Amino acid sequence: MMRGLLAFASLVVVVFGKVTFEGHQVLRILPKDEAQLSLIKNLEEMIEFQVDIWMGVTDVSNPVDVRVPFQSLQFVKIYLEAQNIDYTIMIEDLQVVLDEEQEEMEAAARLAQPRNTDSFDFSRYHTISEIYSFQDMLVAENPNLVSKIVIGSSYEGRPLNVLKFSTGGTNRPAIWIDTGIHSREWVTQASGTWFAKKIVTDYGRDPALTAILNKMDIFLEIVTNPDGFAYTHSSNRMWRKTRKPNPGSSCAGVDPNRNWDSGFGGPGASSNPCSETYRGPRAHSESEVKSIVDFVKSHGNFKAFISIHSYSQMLLYPFGYTKTPAKDQAELHNLAQRAITDLASLYGTRYRYGSIINTIYQASGGTIDWTYEQGIKYSYTFELRDTGRYGFILPANQIIPTAQETWLALMAIMNHTYNNPY
Ligand SMILES: [Zn+2]
Repeated sequence: MMRGLLAFASLVVVVFGKVTFEGHQVLRILPKDEAQLSLIKNLEEMIEFQVDIWMGVTDVSNPVDVRVPFQSLQFVKIYLEAQNIDYTIMIEDLQVVLDEEQEEMEAAARLAQPRNTDSFDFSRYHTISEIYSFQDMLVAENPNLVSKIVIGSSYEGRPLNVLKFSTGGTNRPAIWIDTGIHSREWVTQASGTWFAKKIVTDYGRDPALTAILNKMDIFLEIVTNPDGFAYTHSSNRMWRKTRKPNPGSSCAGVDPNRNWDSGFGGPGASSNPCSETYRGPRAHSESEVKSIVDFVKSHGNFKAFISIHSYSQMLLYPFGYTKTPAKDQAELHNLAQRAITDLASLYGTRYRYGSIINTIYQASGGTIDWTYEQGIKYSYTFELRDTGRYGFILPANQIIPTAQETWLALMAIMNHTYNNPY
């Protein structure tokens, strides 16, 4: 055990306060049968290897993507080869890809900062302060349509900003969209920013969106895990969880998509604070989660709730923690199929769809299981591009196409919600 811990300490290389990933590879593991699936699951649990699961074990027809630190690469490859498990190298050296991403961002940042949302560069990744100032500009430019609500603050004290798109009324039926609850999934916050601009652009022009906004409100939280997001920029691009310290552990953070009070603590979440799927000490322990819980409950009139992740190109509905089908399964399934058909119509991007537990794996304490159990029928989770070529480091030139195609699926869900009041 001691050896394991020492080895673990040496795996984290920090340069100028930033974790680097030199020589880390992302392997795509291709299980052939159930026996191999469980061997790969074992590998995920060997904490001394410090493998970081990018796409977890589902079934024999789906690959598993893992980031392997340089120091354990040999061991992991020997382990796989000894068991006759096939794999390919998806990313040869993660740091090379991260350096490219960083250079692109810095080049863009050297240009003048945008003075309005028309000159905001949606084809680049942005820092939290750039996104926050984008939000403020959007509100200032569209005072009759957009307002900013602060629903709470993060562990480190950052505001949890939600954009409210509303044409009036009080407590209208509402649609919730959040992006970036997992901080390293950068294409989601970038897409959320694009959605915000799309809503103000299309209102009054696109009949479907105009009709929706004349009856309903849309709430959009772009940076749902601000501490984690700031940390992906300042210190560790691969950070997924919140940033709250865990008493008695050297590992910080809770997985905010395992922290909800729905099957909390069941299979498909970890009780180990060092795990990427650590559920937290109790349900709603994270203020980033609790603030949404309180807001949704006090609002009381949400009709759709869409939580956006990346990657793997999937559209999912409840449940994640139980095999028991949601009582609206047939409707949710049909709507998902229509949404991904619309999505594919733009660039041919193919999505899989279904309930979380049947499509990916059992996951407990997830966002949309909780919202569904609160009575929000149209509860969905997206996993955006890609299917693993770049994984979490999706090139910035794919942001706009990703946002555009996703918008078509969002419109399908929002339209259905509008047409089927309950
Ligand atoms: Zn995620």
